[in-house]
Amino acid sequence: MGFRWVLRLVALVLVVWGIAGLASGCAGGKIGEKQALAPQARPGAIKVYTSFYPLYDFTKKIAGDKAEVINLQPVGVEPHDFEPSPQQVADLYRGRVFIFLGGTMDPWAAKIQGQLKKDGVITLEAGQGLMVNNDPHIWLDPVLATEIARRICTTLVTADGGNKGYYEQNLRALEQKLTALDEEYRQALSGLPRKEIVTSHAAFAYLAKRYGLEQIAISGLSPQEEPSPQQLARLVALCRSRGIKYIFFETLASPKLAETLARETGTGTLVLNPIGGLTPEEVKAGEDYFTIMAKNLANLKKALE
Ligand SMILES: [Zn+2]
Repeated sequence: MGFRWVLRLVALVLVVWGIAGLASGCAGGKIGEKQALAPQARPGAIKVYTSFYPLYDFTKKIAGDKAEVINLQPVGVEPHDFEPSPQQVADLYRGRVFIFLGGTMDPWAAKIQGQLKKDGVITLEAGQGLMVNNDPHIWLDPVLATEIARRICTTLVTADGGNKGYYEQNLRALEQKLTALDEEYRQALSGLPRKEIVTSHAAFAYLAKRYGLEQIAISGLSPQEEPSPQQLARLVALCRSRGIKYIFFETLASPKLAETLARETGTGTLVLNPIGGLTPEEVKAGEDYFTIMAKNLANLKKALE
């Protein structure tokens, strides 16, 4: 009798242990799933993968609950550094659509595009023909962002024609928000006395061109392209001669160089977020392209007054 109870107890412990193990295995999940936030896609919805955040955000806004949108870039990872894991690449082949930007932002994507297409996945190189001088940061110009959004909508309609009206309605709402954002930037920035923005890396050329600003970048087209000591010395001299008040740094890359330049020139620092990805704190706070663009504009006004 006593022995049977011990056996039962052991069996029970093993079962509970097994369930706990399974549960923690599920909770661990795949990194890309962390951004599959509400609204949850309906059962049977198509699976759409994106290479990095701004494409994810626009796709999510157009897809609503009619598609399951999964961002491959994990939260908190700087997009220029990011490459998907072999498991993530394998997942792509089980999706219906794969959306990437093209150019130097996600060079791994163009390499697998051909094979994905052959296997029946619909692919979109959203930035094709929109980039100048190999600069991938087109999403930071609301006008070019509108073109990206239209291409994403067309691709979703191709993949899932039954929901054409729904996707197009969401696109119109997104277009209106982008038009309003463009108008707001235009009005706020046109009257300011200063035009130079000193940025961490050269992510703001399209935005600067659209609104008549001049970008002075500390690093190159990616945060990894760091300046030499001579270039940094030239930047110090330039900031002094132009009477720069603030140096901009960003949320996902190291602020070290911006802080060094600010210290050398006796200027302040402010965030100018290139929206290449969100930090875990930004995800928790419910930030998106529009809330961050609004914060960027507030800081641009402060620096250029
Ligand atoms: Zn960048």
